[in-house]
Parts: sequence; structure tokens; C-alpha cells
Amino acid sequence: MKTIILAAAAALFAFTSPLHAKAPAPEWSIAIHGGAGTLDPDRMTTEQRAAYEAALQNALDAGKAVLAEGGSAMDAVKAAILPLEDDPLFNAGRGAVFTWEGRNELDASIMDGRDRSAGAVTGVTTIKNPILLAEKVRTDSPHVFLMGEGAEQFASEQQLETAPPEWFATERRLESLERMKANALSAIDVDLKFGTVGAVALDQDGNLAAGTSTGGMTGKRWGRIGDAPVIGAGTYADNRACAVSATGWGEYFIRVGVAAEICSRIRMVRAQQAFKSGGEHREWLEREGYAQGIADAVMKEVKDLGGDGGVILVTPEGQALYSFNTTGMYRGRATSDGLNEVAIFGEGAAE
Ligand code: ASP
Repeated sequence: MKTIILAAAAALFAFTSPLHAKAPAPEWSIAIHGGAGTLDPDRMTTEQRAAYEAALQNALDAGKAVLAEGGSAMDAVKAAILPLEDDPLFNAGRGAVFTWEGRNELDASIMDGRDRSAGAVTGVTTIKNPILLAEKVRTDSPHVFLMGEGAEQFASEQQLETAPPEWFATERRLESLERMKANALSAIDVDLKFGTVGAVALDQDGNLAAGTSTGGMTGKRWGRIGDAPVIGAGTYADNRACAVSATGWGEYFIRVGVAAEICSRIRMVRAQQAFKSGGEHREWLEREGYAQGIADAVMKEVKDLGGDGGVILVTPEGQALYSFNTTGMYRGRATSDGLNEVAIFGEGAAE
């Protein structure tokens, strides 16, 4: 009897002790990426690695500052993407890859998890920051997706900053195109990695947002459009589920509908848990690795079809996650709990 009483007391203590109280979920969180691919530490100099890490931290800091001050997830996503678009290290804005014809044609998209409003552009060539044009499409047009000349005309009506072709063009990307043509290589073989940029965020009001920006794939032809500007493939945000931004072999991401697929599965699990537990499900959602498992399962589908790449996501509980089926992904994440990480190599979330 005495043993039973002691055990009961211990169980009660364990349940009520502040030592065992669950830490509150982060108030805000953010994740960013600068592309995934065959990334090998032995093929990167210390200086190159430091330059990538500094660029990622700089973008992460820009997004963190917005969120820490109580700004919106949408503003944080834009703040994180802008420096990456301006940085020639990444395949977005300045430093974008070349089309077969030797042009830089840019794609971008953005989505607000509050109401699932979205904006996207494809094939623009003079807009300095395509993510800002995608945002204007969302806020100031009756449409979701604009292309080429029409998108540029809309940009000029919205007085967005333009830049000449030389701003986007870099020697390194031109050399990739020339090597591809000379050796009849595929875009994957010539670059070995993707350099698309993206960001996802949860703000202090519990809102989610996602954005993605890219030059696409080296040597793209015939007006090819990848996943990055396609809402549901490269970008998706829904306050009921998650915010996702992708990078990788766009054709496969479109076929799987990666970003929307991850959010749909997460939404289903959340709805089931809420139903089963009568509303007492928040702890379960915070504790369980369900979102990581879902992202990994969808990325496995991409791989099974023959594609590669990765995603970043945040959940309403503030989990900031990555999943990729390549040897590395330029990435970073931070939360109000003090997590701050940038990484390039390694499997999944951990390095
Ligand atoms: N997903 C992009 C595309 O297919 C490429 C990338 O991620 O770098 O256009």
C-alpha cells in the first residue's frame, strides 16, 4: 500500500512539477534557403564557405529583425529574400542562371497564410527584385500569376525598381551555360546544385508566409517555367498548416505539387488530432515530429520519381524545419527561443 501511495505521489509530482512543465512554443520562427544540390565540403574553399555562411546569416538576420520587432511574416519573408536576390552567389535576381539564348529570366512567388492570397511572376528580365513584383501582384492586381512583358508593364505601373541586363549577368553563370553547350551537359550536371532562394516565417500573431525567387535552371529553353513561381509547387502558405518554400529540379516539384502537398498532409494530421483530443492537441503538435515526417515523405516521392532538391518549412507551433534529398542545402533557421543556425552540408535537419 505504501508503495502505491509513494508511486502515486511521484506521478502527481512529475505531472505538476514546474521542472516538467512544457516550454512554450516559440513566438516567432523563420527558415531560409539558398538552394540544394551536390554540395561537398572538399570542393569548397574555406573562403567560399565563409562567404555563403555570411550571406545566409545576413538574410536570416534581416528576417529575424522584422519578427523580433513584432513585424509580419510577410515582411520577414521579403526582408530575408531581398539580400539573397541582390547577392550574386545565389541563382535569383543578380547572379541568376542563363537561358539557352543567354538571358536571365527571373521567376518569383509569395503567399500569405492568413488568407492564402498569392502573387507570382515568371520570365521577367528587368525587375531588380522579383519578389517585390510578386508581392505587388498579390496586393495590387486582381490576378495571381503574371508573365514576361505583361508582368514588366505592371511593374512599371507600380513603379518598381528596374535594372539593366548587366546587373543580373555574372561571369560564373555565363561560364556554366558555355560549358553546358560545349559538353552537351544537362542543367544538373553543369551546376551540380540549385541556387534558388526562399524564406518561410511564423510571426508573433501566429501568421505564416512563404516566398521563393529564382533564375530557374541553366540553359532553360522554350519559355520553360520551373516550380518556384508556381503556387503549390515551389511556394505555399496556409495558417492552418504550414509555410513551405522549395528548391530543386522544378519539373519534379511541379509534378508532385510539393509545397501544397506538404501543407495538405499537415492540415489533415492537425485536423485529426484536434478531432480526437477535443482541442487538447497543441502539446501533441509541439512534441511530435509529424511535420518533419510529412516533409520527408513528400521529398521521398520527388526522389522516387527521379528528382532532387529540398524544402524549408515552418509550422503554426513554430517548428522551423528542412528536408532535402541532396548532399546539402544552403540553409538557415532561427526562432525566438534563441535557435540560430546556418548550414550547408549534411543530411536533413542536423549537421
Ligand atoms: N527549382 C528551380 C527551378 O526548377 C531551380 C532551383 O531550385 O534552383 O527553376
